[in-house]
Amino acid sequence: MNNLKEKYTGKKIDHMDILNIEDAAKKSIGKKSIIVTGVTGQDGSHMVDYLLANTDYEIFGCVRRLSVYNHKNISHINNKRFHLINFDLTDSHSIARIIEKIKPDYFINLAAQSFVGSSWDFAHQTWETNCTSTLHILEAIRLYHPTCRFYQAGSSEEFGDVAYNPQDELHPLRPRSPYGASKTASRQLVKVWRDSYNLYAVQGWLFNHEGTRRGEEFVTRKITKAVARIKNAINNEGPYNMLELGNLDAKRDWSDAEDFVEGIWLMLNQESPKEYVLSSNETHSIREFVELAFKEVGIYGSWEGVGIDEKYVDENSGRVLVAINSKFYRPAEVDLLWGDSTKA
Ligand code: GDP
Repeated sequence: MNNLKEKYTGKKIDHMDILNIEDAAKKSIGKKSIIVTGVTGQDGSHMVDYLLANTDYEIFGCVRRLSVYNHKNISHINNKRFHLINFDLTDSHSIARIIEKIKPDYFINLAAQSFVGSSWDFAHQTWETNCTSTLHILEAIRLYHPTCRFYQAGSSEEFGDVAYNPQDELHPLRPRSPYGASKTASRQLVKVWRDSYNLYAVQGWLFNHEGTRRGEEFVTRKITKAVARIKNAINNEGPYNMLELGNLDAKRDWSDAEDFVEGIWLMLNQESPKEYVLSSNETHSIREFVELAFKEVGIYGSWEGVGIDEKYVDENSGRVLVAINSKFYRPAEVDLLWGDSTKA
């Protein structure tokens, strides 16, 4: 079992290898470098994979000190150009020091409290992590290394209560959640710092983007993991718990996270800083996603009941596959997101 795990994950990242800022600075002397935050998350880890494969920069990945590390998404990386730095995005001093000492060519900020659903429960933490930190990074770049190119992870959640379909770069920002508000404010900070100080600072309006590294609380992973679990139980004639979801009628525009990290790199390397929507230009409901995911493994269901009592029932066995649990409804919903990425 251990052998299998080793083979699968490649060389383990040794926690003792996590550098402090001074040691990281020594490794950056005379080298072109990129700082990426959020490297243990979906986008950050794909960004590091992309940059290692397509550039020759030293990559400094920022990680927060935790007693139990969650490095699953980067445990496959075994490359001398990749370094981990102990870093906390909510600490303005550490942001200033890291930029002053490493003087990176690019700073790609993909760290965030990224789950909309939790942002009502942790509104202040969401604001500090997603927005105040952006202000600190912009100020540190302006003061210590103004030629550094900066990318801030923006979101289609900034469009929120949408005014027209599909949404392009001119769509007004009308957030519906503390998460959306924090990303909207960050976008305004990026624009103001770009206009005021002539910085190369951009954000992209990235619509939902998914993959196997997506957190399991997000609806795509939640559904696909449950479908696999239920299919396995049916194959083995075992019991299973039904999948519980919230609003089935919300619509989203989903893409592949690996495509979008390339989009981010392209945004960072234009002649002048311009911002873009990245999207698939299609919108689909959660309900459609559920139907397609079950169909993919040969399970066919039908919807019965209405509202909170609605259920998705296996046509073969009559067993309930999906039910509604009101705890997964949000205090305010973004009903529909549908991107127009023509400009990109
Ligand atoms: P978001 O678009 O960044 O909020 O990504 P999510 O994957 O968290 O949610 C996408 C949509 O799925 C939202 O409109 C949610 O309200 C809806 N949804 C319905 N049921 C669930 C659920 O059980 N979990 C999550 N995360 N979202 C759900």
